[in-house]
Amino acid sequence: MKTYYLKINPEQFESSQLMPAADILVSGGLVAFPTETVYGLGAVVDHETALQNIFQVKGRPGDNPLILHIWHHRQLSGIVETVDPRYQKLIDAFWPGPLTLIFPKKANISPTVTAGLPTVAVRMPSHPVARELLRLVDRPVAAPSANLSGRPSPTRGEHVREDLDGKIPMIIDAGPCQAGIESTVLLLAEKPYILRPGSVTREMVEEILQEPVEVVTSGEKVDRPQAPGMKYRHYAPEAPVTLVEGEELAVIAAINRMIEETGENVVVLAFSEHLDCYRNVTVLDLGPRESPWIAAARLYDLLRSCDQMKAGRIYVEGLEKTGVGTAVENRLFKAAGGNVIHVS
Ligand code: AMP
Ligand code: MG
Repeated sequence: MKTYYLKINPEQFESSQLMPAADILVSGGLVAFPTETVYGLGAVVDHETALQNIFQVKGRPGDNPLILHIWHHRQLSGIVETVDPRYQKLIDAFWPGPLTLIFPKKANISPTVTAGLPTVAVRMPSHPVARELLRLVDRPVAAPSANLSGRPSPTRGEHVREDLDGKIPMIIDAGPCQAGIESTVLLLAEKPYILRPGSVTREMVEEILQEPVEVVTSGEKVDRPQAPGMKYRHYAPEAPVTLVEGEELAVIAAINRMIEETGENVVVLAFSEHLDCYRNVTVLDLGPRESPWIAAARLYDLLRSCDQMKAGRIYVEGLEKTGVGTAVENRLFKAAGGNVIHVS
């Protein structure tokens, strides 16, 4: 299949430029499109073959549910059974934006979307290109990240091309994604749980709900299947990743010791302040230690450049687990397949 590559300037574009993309979606084709989190691989919710193609193209396990994307609040009533008043507060505060909410689903929503769960995940993206595309289509669009399953998520049009060229009819390239990590996924049970941390942080949700929110990424505390991202190495570059956490100087010392014991092609992901602390290895810049949102925006691009450099081994300095740092640490934990060293 020939993939049409559509370049769009997100600050200045005409709706008509997106019409071919909307036509492809409406007729059951797949389109990769930019959002403020990562690039998504979209299919309209009511086209079963298109939904199944998402799983086929990505090599995605069928037990991993998809998130539905909407542009207008009125679309919610066609998808979900009820809206908890606590959700309404979060919707008012964070939509459009990188927060996915899990609702009881309407019967008409395909089990392909929900992986057979009684719930459906919904979000309203804020990216102008995503919003305009969703407006033109005017049906909910199911979209996971537009990468091959297991690889780092795509935060640039080129990343989507690396993974999906020749497999889908269209990629819309609107430059780098602002947030760079996937949306926060929130479930309200008897208590609120964050199932996947993102750039809408626990602290931000707590302020709106005025109650404590727990971050549970393994699913052990909530009554639902474990999120598949936990079972496998995920978001991962080809080389093995070691995440080193602990006191700043101890982390640098530990990574330097491991560099001496390791063979060729070591890459270190370090904070801007520490770029000079490592000798004879490639060091990539995570941004300042105090600005984890910069690490979030760069993370997947850095992991993909490790592949391009044919890294043999990757060491990453750990982040503080507060604010957006929690989300970056979560992705690194999965990229490392749980290979985390704590030093002090
Ligand atoms: P992605 O495919 O990368 O956009 O990620 C979608 C993620 O959303 C899944 O891996 C799940 O963690 C989460 N998700 C989607 N729907 C549900 C649901 N009904 N219940 C729990 N988690 C969900
Ligand atoms: Mg994904």
